[in-house]
Amino acid sequence: RFASTKYDVVVIGGGPGGYVAAIKAAQLGFNTACIEKRGALGGTCLNVGCIPSKSLLNNSHLYHTIKHDSDHRGIAINGDVTVDFDKLMGAKDKAVKTLTGGIEMLFKKNKVTYIKGEGSFIDSKNVSVKPIDGSEPQEIEADHFIVATGSEPTPFPGIQIDEERIVSSTGILSLKEIPKRLSIIGGGIIGLEMASVYSRIGTEVTVIEFQGAIGAGMDAEVAKTTQKLLAKQGLKFKLGTKVVSGVRDGEVVKIEVEDVKSGKKEDLEADVLLVAIGRRPYTEGLNLEAAGLEADNKGRLIIDDQYRSKHDHIRVIGDVTFGPMLAHKAEEEGIAAAEYIKHGHGHVNYANIPSVMYTHPEVAWVGLNEEQLKEQGIKYRVGKFPFIANSRAKTNLDTDGFVKFIADEETQRVLGVHIIGANAGEMIAEAGLALEYGASTEDIARTCHAHPTLSEAFKEAALGTFDKTINF
Ligand code: FAD
Repeated sequence: RFASTKYDVVVIGGGPGGYVAAIKAAQLGFNTACIEKRGALGGTCLNVGCIPSKSLLNNSHLYHTIKHDSDHRGIAINGDVTVDFDKLMGAKDKAVKTLTGGIEMLFKKNKVTYIKGEGSFIDSKNVSVKPIDGSEPQEIEADHFIVATGSEPTPFPGIQIDEERIVSSTGILSLKEIPKRLSIIGGGIIGLEMASVYSRIGTEVTVIEFQGAIGAGMDAEVAKTTQKLLAKQGLKFKLGTKVVSGVRDGEVVKIEVEDVKSGKKEDLEADVLLVAIGRRPYTEGLNLEAAGLEADNKGRLIIDDQYRSKHDHIRVIGDVTFGPMLAHKAEEEGIAAAEYIKHGHGHVNYANIPSVMYTHPEVAWVGLNEEQLKEQGIKYRVGKFPFIANSRAKTNLDTDGFVKFIADEETQRVLGVHIIGANAGEMIAEAGLALEYGASTEDIARTCHAHPTLSEAFKEAALGTFDKTINF
């Protein structure tokens, strides 16, 4: 039996949105419970998303660097450098386990009750929980609910996922062996990250993308550079290409594609096909109707600007509602939702949510891109600085990419920053701070940055929007 059947706040879903909301609510003095049915906390992100993918990205990058990029660094390899795929996967599993276990500790520390089961609304004040240990369902009552049930991979009509040969992002993170040939439907962030992992460890990778460019949402110039660099690393791209069908035939997958413009058909074959065309909100088993919750035509739960559904006491955050499907966005909303319950106000700046693609080089951006500014008729200036002219990048023998600043033409206020380069994902945090404080590019260019660091390229790109750069 659960310790209590009545709580101030009950959070449904223990992903980045839900677990953070639960901890914050408890810290604000609410008697809080979090219901999670997966058997582990951390949601998609920690279990089958951000964390396992970054473990594979980091270790495959190290392998690739040692094997193919060490000689000119003065590192001689006397013997073969090979991948132990089981251990590579093992290191990923260990990272996941340590981090999900860490959240359980945080729940204990903050006195959040962790309820392992599936939550299903009985009405707007009560949920029934079906425990994962198979015991009898139990009812729980709460004054406030925060729904954070997340998302799931969007299926491709007509293509049957078996998580062996035809896989979703979940299956690709747990393959049993390195495929010889991998085809990926979707040139978005998840598709390209997985393409990088497998290409580095010897797989022949083909990315099939319907649009004429990769990296949905990226600044067009950055997307083009990214594609060029990834192609140089061996990735094959089929852009402007529509997948017609994908069928498993024994140990291979047969894929039929069609050129979007010419209609010309082509047959492809792969050992594994990854379907990575996006994610959709997940509400299965939640019994939305009983609570009177409504979804839009994309399945996103409808809320107001304080995350309230039709009922003031049921709030919704993260992937299951509007906005970019990102862990840090869900976390920010988790904090804000708990603060709204306590104080009646909270804060998330939706104009300032960074995106990062953890390939090598990394790609990171925040704020508006050139295409969006043109569309909105805003006049702007661009400042750019290439890493080839940055002393640290040169020293590291890692000079691909550039920093691109976009500033308001008149006021120099930072409107967007787009980076392709090693460590772009860390560097973008400074751009976020600039946007949050309404900084101008001059503010950044006049801020002393340590030498030699990659962030000097950041400073110089800011300078480039209103003056001559020094080192390029
Ligand atoms: P989720 O993390 O999906 O968590 C929802 C939880 O609710 C799940 O654990 C589920 O089991 C549980 N649940 C659902 N229904 C019920 C119910 N009725 N009762 C009880 N429990 C329930 N984002 C980034 O920001 N950076 C990245 O690098 C990144 N990489 C990614 C890589 C991959 C391969 C994938 C798939 C995603 C990645 N994402 C990344 C996206 C990120 O994982 C999501 O945006 C994030 O997990 C959303 O958090 P959430 O709390 O809204 O939902």
